[in-house]
Amino acid sequence: MKVAIVGAGIGGLALAQGLQKAGVDVKVFERDPSPRHRNQGYRIHISPVGEEALAAVLPDFVRRRVIATATQPGDLVAGFDSQLQVQFEQEFPVAGPDAVTSVDRYAFRRALMTGLDDVLEFGKQFDSYAETSGGVQLAFTDGTSTFADVLVGADGVGSRVRAQLLPEQDVLDIGVRCIYGKVPLTTNVREVAPPPFLRGFCFASNGAGTGLAFGPVIFREPPAEYGDYLMAVLTGTNEVLGASDDELFTMPAADLWSIVTRSVTNWHPSIRTLVAAADPTAAFPITLRTCIEVPSWSSNHLTLLGDAIHPMTPAAGAGANTALWDAARLARALTSGEDLASYQQDMIPNAQAVVTESLHNAERLFHISIPV
Ligand SMILES: Cc1cc2nc3c(=O)[nH]c(=O)nc-3n(C[C@H](O)[C@H](O)[C@H](O)COP(=O)(O)OP(=O)(O)OC[C@H]3O[C@@H](n4cnc5c(N)ncnc54)[C@H](O)[C@@H]3O)c2cc1C
Repeated sequence: MKVAIVGAGIGGLALAQGLQKAGVDVKVFERDPSPRHRNQGYRIHISPVGEEALAAVLPDFVRRRVIATATQPGDLVAGFDSQLQVQFEQEFPVAGPDAVTSVDRYAFRRALMTGLDDVLEFGKQFDSYAETSGGVQLAFTDGTSTFADVLVGADGVGSRVRAQLLPEQDVLDIGVRCIYGKVPLTTNVREVAPPPFLRGFCFASNGAGTGLAFGPVIFREPPAEYGDYLMAVLTGTNEVLGASDDELFTMPAADLWSIVTRSVTNWHPSIRTLVAAADPTAAFPITLRTCIEVPSWSSNHLTLLGDAIHPMTPAAGAGANTALWDAARLARALTSGEDLASYQQDMIPNAQAVVTESLHNAERLFHISIPV
């Protein structure tokens, strides 16, 4: 069997590992010209669901790379008001030396690419497919094409595979924008940062729609390109941020970061000090999007995983973990002679529960109402 995966994101890479481990002929087609190419976001929380999926699909030497390049586990999740008064706090035991509780997205993807040199093709943008009785013909924007017995759309929230397979499927913009940034953890920043910010994910809110989250990325083994940092994410509507999408998505990174600086003018001095210590060139904006219902479809040769089929807001910290769950379940289906429908039957209810949780969390966290 020949499997073509479109998209070398978290789910596509995990699936490729699971299939290669089982001896399946697999290829991954990624539109980016290289693994480094774009702003990919910074810190990702890995839950026990994600860890279990990684253990199922990864060969041991790849799993070791994932563990070595993950962050040191934290022991706290906390919420604050803008003056750093604690609103909630949850402590938990520090996980063991082999635990993966959060990762830097770039370092994680690089680790997931270990051993896939002959499987991965960069600079290959999928355009469309044609299903035949025996498989699927994939066409790329560079004019080339290839045949596979199974096509897996793992091409993220803007999936072209989904757009062709399920043209009616809506992806909802929930009206919240994020500005992502990075505060390098210099000695000085470590000294001035509120101690909880170095222990785990912390979210501060002014109660009027502006939120600022911090998540420490303290590596076991940093990538060659950069060291430890605090991920910082400002959230709010265009109105709250005082900038339209046209402005947000075209302005230089340093101007984006000035929006963050302006938004915390009256906040606690420690927060303002951290914002001032950020690398302004590392800022980038994103739109939060979600599906409401995970749809079903019918095909013997074509399937979808991760954000391509069930995009969700980051408010449950579960999009990547659910993509990993999908990858493990689909790898099992493709290597044990099950049909694609059996994957779909398990994936849809599992993903639907997480999407619904993420919608509820987003309403609470961002002070919005999502029409469902
Ligand atoms: C800011 C932010 C923070 C998040 N934090 C968390 C978190 O803490 N925990 C968590 O579990 N989840 C988190 N998520 C969600 C998580 O990042 C996604 O759910 C996850 O990356 C989905 O994985 P995926 O493999 O489905 O898609 P992606 O990782 O998005 O990968 C899709 C890949 O497909 C490629 N591609 C797209 N179109 C084409 C094409 N036409 N041809 C070829 N290649 C193509 C893209 O370049 C990309 O590499 C967060 C998301 C965001 C945006």
